Amino acid sequence: MNDGTLAAAGNSAAAAVDPILDVEGVTLQYKTKEHLITATYRVGFKVFPADRFVLLGPSGCGKSTLLKGVAGYLKPVEGNMRLKGVDIKEPGPDRVMVFQEFDQLLPWKTVKQNITFALMNGGKCKTQAEADEIAMQYIKKVKLDRFENTFPHMLSGGMKQRVAIARGMAMEPDILLMDEPFAALDALTRRQMQEELLQLWEDTHFTVLFVTHSIEEALIVGSRILVLSPHPGQVKAELNAHHLNHDNTGDPAFGELQSKIHDMLFADRILEDELQEADH
Ligand code: ADP
Ligand code: MG
Repeated sequence: MNDGTLAAAGNSAAAAVDPILDVEGVTLQYKTKEHLITATYRVGFKVFPADRFVLLGPSGCGKSTLLKGVAGYLKPVEGNMRLKGVDIKEPGPDRVMVFQEFDQLLPWKTVKQNITFALMNGGKCKTQAEADEIAMQYIKKVKLDRFENTFPHMLSGGMKQRVAIARGMAMEPDILLMDEPFAALDALTRRQMQEELLQLWEDTHFTVLFVTHSIEEALIVGSRILVLSPHPGQVKAELNAHHLNHDNTGDPAFGELQSKIHDMLFADRILEDELQEADH
């Protein structure tokens, strides 16, 4: 293969299987009293089973807005979004969101109760015993057994994010939506959490739509990466990154792809600067 890293990622996977999530030409807007803000413009991508699909772009390019659309909180003004072939009309337990904020857990409930509450409320479990069993399974997966009866305020930021991830995974959604889940963590914890997420994925091969503004994180976590342009977000490129993770951050292939994406993301800015200079 010539330059396989930049090959359009969809082609190989697309032929045999149906996508779990199909986003086509989606424009998302916010209407405020004075303004109409276009957050994303005609964005399209397909997420296939077991993809670790990353939306990568600078702050304000509409990544969170896209997740809100997929989650069913925001309707596109143009284009469509389908989950397993069905138009997304409202939120549902088939799509679970994990956020950046450490306060996404219920503070008056323990680690285990936070998960069982979601399982019972989301209709995943009928009995408390069943919910307890599933909760403990996922608490073990994120290495928090010993902390199941602890309240969130006693946990570190990384531990809280593990609980949020365990809760999300316990719901066994069709797709896990993660909005910069590690962005507020210190560098070492962040790295550890990225590794743990990959281990969990090795374990269960869940499907995840992961948002980040970090090129490095996108390459480590993602199997496929959608690069979005600055505001309003438009698709710049879709790349394969399944061959990259923590083990090869030092490899030339990692650095090359990293700088290619960097150039892509900053090309507009460079062009703008050059045009301004030419004006003077
Ligand atoms: P990202 O997650 O990539 O940083 P967002 O999706 O949060 O970007 O925001 C995309 C654009 O939409 C930004 O210009 C932002 O200011 C705007 N925006 C986000 N949320 C709202 C809102 N509730 N009302 C109005 N504008 C919004
Ligand atoms: Mg955001």
